[in-house]
Amino acid sequence: MGKHLVFVGGGHAHLTSLKLLSNFRKLGHQVTVISSSPYHYYSGMGPGMLSGIYQPREVRFHVKKLAEERGAAFIKGTAVKIDPREHFIFLDTGEKVPYDVVSFNIGSEVPVESLAKTPAGNLFPVKPVINLLTARRSILEAIRNNRMLRFVVVGGGPAGVEISANLLGLLRENRGRGEITLIGGKRLLADAPEKARRLVRESLTCRGVTIIEGSRVKAVEKGQVTLSDGKRFDMDLAFLAIGIQPSSLFRDSGIPTGADGGMLVNARLQSVAHPDIFGGGDCISLEGHSLAKVGVYAVRENPVLYHNLLAALEGGKMDVFAPQKKFLLIFNMGNGKGIFWKGNWVWEGRLAFLLKNYIDRKFMRTFQVSGELDEQSEGFAQ
Ligand SMILES: Cc1cc2nc3c(=O)[nH]c(=O)nc-3n(C[C@H](O)[C@H](O)[C@H](O)COP(=O)(O)OP(=O)(O)OC[C@H]3O[C@@H](n4cnc5c(N)ncnc54)[C@H](O)[C@@H]3O)c2cc1C
Repeated sequence: MGKHLVFVGGGHAHLTSLKLLSNFRKLGHQVTVISSSPYHYYSGMGPGMLSGIYQPREVRFHVKKLAEERGAAFIKGTAVKIDPREHFIFLDTGEKVPYDVVSFNIGSEVPVESLAKTPAGNLFPVKPVINLLTARRSILEAIRNNRMLRFVVVGGGPAGVEISANLLGLLRENRGRGEITLIGGKRLLADAPEKARRLVRESLTCRGVTIIEGSRVKAVEKGQVTLSDGKRFDMDLAFLAIGIQPSSLFRDSGIPTGADGGMLVNARLQSVAHPDIFGGGDCISLEGHSLAKVGVYAVRENPVLYHNLLAALEGGKMDVFAPQKKFLLIFNMGNGKGIFWKGNWVWEGRLAFLLKNYIDRKFMRTFQVSGELDEQSEGFAQ
């Protein structure tokens, strides 16, 4: 008698399982995919979508199509509660979905409330990635009305750097006028080698970006950003790249979590307290590790998650996930160049961007369903 396998979230760590969904079906199991959106936007190409290097359809996976074409049911909804004893997932739609085995890949959120009590329409957290498309549209509108724009990017990590660089690209490509201030917190790219910081600083400041380091943002309200030292900046549009954190879903459902609030899982990517609950990506905390919240790990967890879900349904030995110590990050600098960073190996150039573009497009081709790129609908596919 088949079991009911449920996937919550169509993120980077579920893509292999979604692509091979029919293997679960062939074994007689029922499969349901729940995600807040029928589409999943690949964050690595998000900044390039902001500047227009990539079209929206080049940056997203059609999770609904991926699931339904392989015999699964798709529910558009957000999981808001889990009952690990009775085996139910509660959705914001009011639905209650039973499961025998469930896997979570629901990513992470930008803690907007820590800076903006009443987030206004001109405030764009860098996740979910679709916000970058919304921001692009509103900036192009302002450029058409010949408005001069004051941008503030809050956060000096990789996302803040790429957003600032691709804002420059958007303005250049559309003859827009704008001032960009990047507020980098205590230090720009605090975890990176000095060479990476220097190359990023030079690349941004020589194109007119003002970089502020040494003080943190205290509040972002409608048209103003206030720093911890009391200084204020007027702005027309702000991006929040202040780091990401797992949702409180697991804590609120009484499921053990790690220090960062992610679901605590063992090396088999299984909840330490509930062997029928699995997870991957930003929303988990791997026991004994404090992994950076980067997509690289989510992508590498794919095959282990797929294998272990099969083993959970069919019996058999489970695989373990061993995270790599160093990972590659290439910053898309919005000018056809990239900055390559792996360990202490850092360099800048066109080749770095071409390498990132090749890696990202290859990843997209692996999981995009056929006909997806031909979709004419450039509209807001939420
Ligand atoms: C601008 C930007 C650029 C980045 N560039 C890179 C990069 O180049 N390389 C890199 O390694 N990392 C990069 N990152 C980090 C990377 O985005 C994250 O580490 C990665 O997204 C984690 O993937 P995930 O699969 O865990 O979650 P996500 O990509 O966040 O996917 C989660 C999915 O779950 C769905 N969902 C969320 N909550 C629920 C819920 N409660 N119920 C149902 N569905 C839900 C969402 O709709 C989404 O489809 C970048 C981040 C940002 C913000």
